[in-house]
Amino acid sequence: MKIIVLPGDGIGPETVSVAVDALAVISQKFRLGLKLEHDIAGHDSLKLHGTTLRPHLLDAVKNADGLLLGPMSTYDFKDESKGEINPSKYFRKSLDLFANIRPAKTFDGAQTRYGKLDLVVVRENTEGFYADRNVESGSSEMLITPDVVVSLRRITRDCCLRIARSAFELAMIRRKHLTVVHKANVLRIGDGMFIDMCREVGREFPEVTVEEIIVDAMMAHVVRAPERFDVIVTTNMFGDILSDLTAELSGSLGMAASVNAGAQYAMAQAAHGSAPDIAGQNIANPFSQVWSASMLLAWYGQRQGRSEFVQASRAMDHHMASAIAARESTRDMGGLLGTRETGAAFIKRLATI
Ligand code: ATP
Ligand code: MG
Repeated sequence: MKIIVLPGDGIGPETVSVAVDALAVISQKFRLGLKLEHDIAGHDSLKLHGTTLRPHLLDAVKNADGLLLGPMSTYDFKDESKGEINPSKYFRKSLDLFANIRPAKTFDGAQTRYGKLDLVVVRENTEGFYADRNVESGSSEMLITPDVVVSLRRITRDCCLRIARSAFELAMIRRKHLTVVHKANVLRIGDGMFIDMCREVGREFPEVTVEEIIVDAMMAHVVRAPERFDVIVTTNMFGDILSDLTAELSGSLGMAASVNAGAQYAMAQAAHGSAPDIAGQNIANPFSQVWSASMLLAWYGQRQGRSEFVQASRAMDHHMASAIAARESTRDMGGLLGTRETGAAFIKRLATI
């Protein structure tokens, strides 16, 4: 498996380097033969090469099996003609990474205000309400008169089918429970189609129990009894909002992992931003990036039928949980270690496998 590594901005280089070290050890232990190719994108690339994303990178990425991307600081990327492309957005779109998979889990040792949770939000990543994902012009919002805006939301049968399939497949290797989150009482046609497609795909997965919950009620349920949810599938904007809620309920944004997966390709990326306020201080939690990398291995293993990759991913997750329980973690998770020390302790654990 070939993985392109782009460390990103802010806390990216510190946290990605822990994930890279972990991948190197796990590759050796499970004989994965991982090849990691290092390059740069984002602010470093803008300074050195005048663009955040050099054109050769897209080809390099397409010739690899996966991408490990650090957080990108994108608030000042406004003008693509000045090389200010948001690499994350660009990869999602050009590689058609339609499933944004965001787990949220309360680890032993984490401080949380609510109950324990262990769930995964599967968010549709290519259509819905979000402007750049809908139309080539880059905007699905229109100013009809100076006082009236119309925003378009696109829902297609094919995109509903493929996201539903991803969610059911994930449910099959977890607790076999799927929650479909929607607003079909108001968005009757679009979310109606989304639910219908989930039901259609569900017929192929009779072992998975399915419940359908309206998005507003879901907010209450997930706060009141988060432990009852396993896999949650929903459309783009609802998934965006819901997955932030679940990440926060799980304990720390520093654990927020994600993978963006398509039919051919997947990109591992922490679900938080570049956290410039703590960059370079050796206090960022590297596990969001480690966990994302582990999800990339699991995705590849399942897709290729390579069980050693799935086992390697399970081993990484298991040792990450043990490290957190033993407080070999950063302060946000109740530990006392810095980023580098957390990484070193984790590598030591992996070396004992
Ligand atoms: P960006 O513009 O890149 O999104 P931001 O300033 O919004 O950056 P985020 O990365 O979104 O910052 O994170 C918000 C806050 O959460 C940060 O200020 C930081 O304190 C905390 N945080 C984020 N990631 C981590 C991490 N890996 N470890 C510890 N704390 C983190
Ligand atoms: Mg942010």
